[in-house]
Amino acid sequence: MPEFIPLAKPHLSEEEKSAMLRVMESGWWTTGPEVQKFEKEMEDYLGAGVHALALNSCTSALFLALKAQGIGPGDKVLVPTWTFAATAMVVEWCGAEPVLVDVQAENLNVSLEHFEKAWDPSVKAVIPVHVAGIPVDLNPILNWCEQKDVFCLEDAAHAIGSKYGDRLIGSHSHAVAFSFYVTKNLACGEGGMLVSTNEEWLEKVRKISYFGIDKSAHQRYQKKGSWFYEIESLGFKCNLDNLHASIARVQLAKLEEMNSRRAQVCSTYDKNLPGELLFPASKAGSSHHLYMIRLPGSVQRDDFCEGIRQLGVGSSVHFRPLHRHEHYKGDFPASRFPEAESIADKVVSLPLYPDLSHDEVMQVVKAVRKVLGK
Ligand SMILES: *Cc1c(COP(=O)(O)O)cnc(C)c1O
Repeated sequence: MPEFIPLAKPHLSEEEKSAMLRVMESGWWTTGPEVQKFEKEMEDYLGAGVHALALNSCTSALFLALKAQGIGPGDKVLVPTWTFAATAMVVEWCGAEPVLVDVQAENLNVSLEHFEKAWDPSVKAVIPVHVAGIPVDLNPILNWCEQKDVFCLEDAAHAIGSKYGDRLIGSHSHAVAFSFYVTKNLACGEGGMLVSTNEEWLEKVRKISYFGIDKSAHQRYQKKGSWFYEIESLGFKCNLDNLHASIARVQLAKLEEMNSRRAQVCSTYDKNLPGELLFPASKAGSSHHLYMIRLPGSVQRDDFCEGIRQLGVGSSVHFRPLHRHEHYKGDFPASRFPEAESIADKVVSLPLYPDLSHDEVMQVVKAVRKVLGK
């Protein structure tokens, strides 16, 4: 039997290894020059005057953005039910209340209508999620947020390299959070970034990302540095370190190439899988973070996943909607999410990563067809 094809696998070459080794040998393993360079390179990549703050995860980026915005007890934040735990939990960590909303069954993204329906005067923020890298239709949401004085925080964990209109995701709004978790399009193990078109606001977030201290340790320990620092406010510990940043920098330089390889894999799937499995909605602008199919009504998802696993093919589900989880279901009855419910048992993600070979993609196709009897 051929080797097992996993759902995801980070791209690795000598460049990632030597970059990390270079930082290890430099003696400065935590936040420092490598992180600064990574931020600068992300700013150049995203363009449009965007400012970047590297952090230890996308979760931290989401959390700190809400904190800096003053979201707290008594406030509600609208969160699509089709997402990972992080998107809703950061709201709870702030002492605010996440309100789950439905999504579009055709592409699993939230739309303005879903936010509008759930709005009341205590809604202080919304967190659209670009699921699988397909850009959310942002303009209507951003216009509405401005009218209602609601803070828009984009969860772009899947969307590094995605485009909305003619600009990259990250350049459209006040606050956008990226993830560099190992399975994401740009991977460094654990890492994340908050980007903003508002530099002053982002510097506020920078301060609370490291104990509310006015100077970095790197500044203090340099030859010209001094030991003195001031704690100006309550802060947290969410800084990215040089070791992870070194890997992320190498991956950023290859991002376009890696994303276009992902796009190729997706198009091979589109051409070779039975048409009834494909999502009908446009994937224009997508970073192709995930390749999802919809199983026909007659097929049990667990049987399908087990079937392809036995043929050497991994898979996963993105996502089991939050309102179905123990922690949320008491407050959010399934009847409020007709679109998500219509598809929640049917969605499966197939292997997708830059180093997946054509033969492997076809092996996945063969396994899927065999298990479905097509
Ligand atoms: C991965 C993910 C996150 C969290 O990213 P981390 O960097 O692991 O904190 C948040 N939202 C979504 C939709 C994700 O898939």
